[in-house]
Amino acid sequence: MKLENQGLNTICAHVGEVPDEQFKGAISPIYLSSSYQFMDVDVKRYPRYFNTPNQEYLAKKIAALEHTETAMIFGSGMAAISHMFLAFLKSGDHIVVQNTLYGGTSNFIREEFPKLNIEFTFTNGYKVEDFEAAIQPNTKLIHIETPSNPLLTITDIKAIAHLGKQKNIVTSIDNTFASPVNQNPIDFGIDLVMHSATKYFGGHSDICAGAVAGSKDHLDKIWNVSKNYGGSLSDFTVWMLERSMKTMGLRVKAQTKNANKLAKWLDKQAFVKQVYYPGLKSHPEHKLAKSQMKGFGAMLSFELIDSISSDQFMKQLKLIKASMSLAGIESTMLSPTQTSHSLLTPEQRLEIGISDGLIRFSLGIEEAKDLKADIKQAVKAVLK
Ligand SMILES: *Cc1c(COP(=O)(O)O)cnc(C)c1O
Repeated sequence: MKLENQGLNTICAHVGEVPDEQFKGAISPIYLSSSYQFMDVDVKRYPRYFNTPNQEYLAKKIAALEHTETAMIFGSGMAAISHMFLAFLKSGDHIVVQNTLYGGTSNFIREEFPKLNIEFTFTNGYKVEDFEAAIQPNTKLIHIETPSNPLLTITDIKAIAHLGKQKNIVTSIDNTFASPVNQNPIDFGIDLVMHSATKYFGGHSDICAGAVAGSKDHLDKIWNVSKNYGGSLSDFTVWMLERSMKTMGLRVKAQTKNANKLAKWLDKQAFVKQVYYPGLKSHPEHKLAKSQMKGFGAMLSFELIDSISSDQFMKQLKLIKASMSLAGIESTMLSPTQTSHSLLTPEQRLEIGISDGLIRFSLGIEEAKDLKADIKQAVKAVLK
């Protein structure tokens, strides 16, 4: 019986447990050593080599969840993204990235790549044709995000993977928003999957971490770069992350269910102008989302009618927290204009469809009826 081939919650609960040979405890022991014996050993272990016992075993859980050979855990999602990029790009190379990119990734590219003489193109849209049109003879990497932040656009993963294979270009995806519970891009041919583990992997808004999963060949390339830059995760946090991931399947399924319910409900309210959620039949890529996602995810966005200020509305919330980040078991809302996309110019934001009134909603595990009641009372308080 191979644990890696079992169902989602079995993998979450058991794959990558560090065996407690000495005391036979039920959970993984934590090894905090930053110094290991070097003589007569198979592996020379060191935290920055990403191969302490806790790092090595948790990587197995992530690889099993994403259907890949292997994985690496980083100190943040940005450490995972930046090291993945730098492993496949050198001076003179070119990367194609989606225009609706996570703000931090977009900043990293715009601020750091010019210093390194790495060229980049942000696509004009999120369709395969937009990526193909941006390819140059020196393109070495195509990076996508689907569902995207904050408008939940859906890009055809299989078509992007095919495009990469056809043109001999490595493909990568930021799978943070969907999590492996709702989407496994490797099954559609993408080469590399990365996560901000700060989000659904951690799930309790108390861990900052990242991960990349892929084939051993690709991960060896990333390891060669990462060991020089640093950016590994401390073993204590690795251990915390392992504990969190045991319940990831349960959490994300409950959160996804809430998102489905709230998206449908918000869509019917007179105080809502528009809802963005791939699970709604009215979403332009609903069918595509259905074909590549196991669930539609636990993130949605919406715009209130013009007479309600989104700031005033969020200040009136009592249960839902107006706070940064996403994916915790507590429901949160934020304004992309004031947070994730604040470094873009108003013109750049408008170009990708982000209005000042847009609210991004990260669904937690609370009862849907309580979330609805909180939204209703906040609207009522603003309109008074
Ligand atoms: C948060 C986030 C990141 C960056 O992760 P950190 O852990 O904050 O470094 C990257 N991509 C997406 C989609 C995110 O939401």
